[in-house]
Amino acid sequence: MDFFQYYMPTKIFFGQHCLLQNQDAFKKYGSRAFIVTGRWSSKKNGSLEDVIQVLQKQEIFYQIFDEVEENPSIETLEKAAKQGKAYGAQFIIGIGGGSPIDAAKGIGVLLANPNKTAYDLLEEGDLSSVPIMAIPTTSGTGTETTPYAIFTDHQLQTKRNFQPKIFPEMAFLDVRYFSTMPDFVAIHTGVDALSHLVEGYLTVKANPFSDGLAEYGISLWQDCILSLKTNQWSVKQREKMILASTIGGMVIAQTGTSLPHGMGYAFTYFKDIPHGKANGLLMSPYLAIHPHQEKIQRILELLQMDTLQELDTFLKNILGGEICLTPEEMESYTQGMIENEAKLKNHPGKVTKEQIYQIYQASCKSL
Ligand code: NAP
Ligand code: FE
Repeated sequence: MDFFQYYMPTKIFFGQHCLLQNQDAFKKYGSRAFIVTGRWSSKKNGSLEDVIQVLQKQEIFYQIFDEVEENPSIETLEKAAKQGKAYGAQFIIGIGGGSPIDAAKGIGVLLANPNKTAYDLLEEGDLSSVPIMAIPTTSGTGTETTPYAIFTDHQLQTKRNFQPKIFPEMAFLDVRYFSTMPDFVAIHTGVDALSHLVEGYLTVKANPFSDGLAEYGISLWQDCILSLKTNQWSVKQREKMILASTIGGMVIAQTGTSLPHGMGYAFTYFKDIPHGKANGLLMSPYLAIHPHQEKIQRILELLQMDTLQELDTFLKNILGGEICLTPEEMESYTQGMIENEAKLKNHPGKVTKEQIYQIYQASCKSL
């Protein structure tokens, strides 16, 4: 067996009221916290209120930045970091979906390296961060257990990975914060979780630890299929999806993601398709060209499905709405992906331009 390693240092607290029951968890990180969140959801689902209660009880001062948009931009990062620096924040609490938690990681690096710009983070990997606490409220990205963050670069018209590797110090997973997710957010983010488990299982960096996690995560995801179809979620089902998502993060922290993630960025940037939906539409066509078909069979077995066509139909039904592309758009997205060496090198074997085009073609309607 080849050399491999496993590393995931985030301390995870799981369970209802887990933050309130660990009130002193933030104490050692300082007396000034910077809370990073989206516009509304954390104010409605109780997560922000819990954080404020804990900070006040521990006599930790805080300031809130609540302007993180979906697929956060470099500009938002700069703006938030300026505010956080002026406040003298010692640690960051990211609350929300992947967007605010990724933003928290980027801001954390800018606070620890005040001479760097947000663009530097897209080029320089060897940078540390002030401590990051993650309080996810969507069950999809797994960013609470990955060292990654993804930002929208309007200059290059795409989403880009930041280069530092920053794991949150702690993650608090409380099902109460997830119950306000609209159906479409639960579905899109849930499909993102599946794409992490599946892509992570199939990259060249997959190893026995990540495979064990991925198989368990896929079986938890399978238990949520009925909820995804009916939009009826019991606490137990939601908790299973949260676990599947966090485990997906633990997997891709080792393996990285693969073609659907790389190819989906064009859908998100140019067609405004949510991240998870973009991955889901690309998933079956990607699985069809994958060289390790024995692993694809195992995925289908865990999902209790017979064929890739069955998976494709299921995903298209729950995700709804097709993407329509002209041949010129398909050609241009294909060219963009064939230049994305970081993602291509995660795929076992050589990927041809024709295969990329074929995956795009099978995932959309041609105009
Ligand atoms: P998101 O962009 O963080 O949030 C999507 C929407 O859901 C927002 O409108 C948000 O509202 C709302 N929302 C969040 N939690 C909610 C709740 N509990 N109830 C009601 N509404 C809620 O979505 P996401 O899919 O979680 O994150 C996507 C981002 O993560 C992308 O940029 C993607 O590239 C990135 N990502 C990162 C990793 C990683 O490892 N770092 C992995 C995969 C994806 P508010 O704005 O009001 O909060
Ligand atoms: Fe993702």
